[in-house]
Amino acid sequence: MHALERTCFLTLGCSKNEVDSDKMRALAEADPARLVVDDPACADLIVINTCAFITAAIEEALSLIFDVLELPRVKSGQTKVVVAGCLASRYGDELAKSLPEVKFFLPCDEELVFFAPPAPTAEAVSQASGSVEVGSEPGSARPALRTTGQAWAYLKIADGCSRSCSFCSIPAIKGPFRSASQDAILAEADQLVTSGAAELDLIAQDSGLWHSAGHDLADLLELLAERFPDTWLRVLYLYPETVSDKLLAVFDAHANICDYFDLPFQHGDPAVLQAMKRPGGASEYLRLIAKIRDRLPDAAIRTTLISGFPGESAAQHRNLLHFIEQASFDSGGVFAYSRELGTAAFDLHPQHGESLKLARQQEANDLLQSIAADKLQALVGRRVEVLLEGRDEDGLTARSRQMAPEVDALIHLPEGADAKLGGVLQVRIEEAAGFDLFASLL
Ligand code: SF4
Repeated sequence: MHALERTCFLTLGCSKNEVDSDKMRALAEADPARLVVDDPACADLIVINTCAFITAAIEEALSLIFDVLELPRVKSGQTKVVVAGCLASRYGDELAKSLPEVKFFLPCDEELVFFAPPAPTAEAVSQASGSVEVGSEPGSARPALRTTGQAWAYLKIADGCSRSCSFCSIPAIKGPFRSASQDAILAEADQLVTSGAAELDLIAQDSGLWHSAGHDLADLLELLAERFPDTWLRVLYLYPETVSDKLLAVFDAHANICDYFDLPFQHGDPAVLQAMKRPGGASEYLRLIAKIRDRLPDAAIRTTLISGFPGESAAQHRNLLHFIEQASFDSGGVFAYSRELGTAAFDLHPQHGESLKLARQQEANDLLQSIAADKLQALVGRRVEVLLEGRDEDGLTARSRQMAPEVDALIHLPEGADAKLGGVLQVRIEEAAGFDLFASLL
């Protein structure tokens, strides 16, 4: 009888990667030949699921790979190392030459095939290398293990991106946009809710473009809201132009759809946006934000922005600051432009130096965070409905509909709150300290 192959998953990067790792892990757990372990030091197979979106992510991934290659069992050849995900998709061929200690580089679309039953032996995969089928569709029915927490889960509804933002390497890494089928999404949502998810966070690179068999995102949300009336639903990564009146009406009609809009505007200056190959500008975006807040007064607007894009002038930087002030974002982040090989913006001039990019990023981010913190401060004394999501060393943690997991503020509650994880409670916000809110039970 063969010993079980102890398999360890290490995950870097975004929520989409977490979902992919969950799926690989679930397939591995269903495989009688494997035992999933958390400690890489005692594994027989280590799978590193990587990000390669920007240079900093590539450096982080390489650093982790080098650390793993230094583990005694890896050095002695007892443990195999597989690098999966975006780094493998983007640079797998080059890295295979310089890192022969890595057994395989698995691009994103081959990850699930590797673990799909019947589990191929490493040798079988090696022989099949280059001829394996592309992985199953995003969201297709398969084991979906949640590692994100006990009360919420990401639900990936699409993968890839067909836009051409000039700074972005994702379309080259992930390929064109593909929607998961409605049936596959419903099957996975059923499984997640049955296993205790009280909130589903719908993710994709471009969630607003989801469509399947004549249905769009508004139809899908409506279906999910009716099927899971006690489950909070939240949509992440909405390209601004995909927020339609129909979508707003569905948000308005269903209390369990969180009034939360994650809109990565990237900038406010129309000329910078044009160079980014993105439509619109601050005036259109502010109109959209006003429309959302008009219809849904409690809506939280989150954004991501880029400072120091090639050619961004001092005046255009000031336009970005002005846009942040006018938009009065509830949460978000400003990132310094990262020059990525293979993207259209790589060849734009002038490219700014790191110090200028970082100084602008800090100024813009400080402004955004101070507005967001003021908004949290204004919640003190208010009654809020929250979802109990977990525990930390100080007690219970919860979020309101206006706060997404992992990226937004957290509400702390005293231990002993009379509810189970995933339960919904009424609380009063007593204190705000930065992005930590402290509440009492009502
Ligand atoms: S919409 Fe633009 S920024 Fe977002 S993944 Fe697609 S190309 Fe990248």
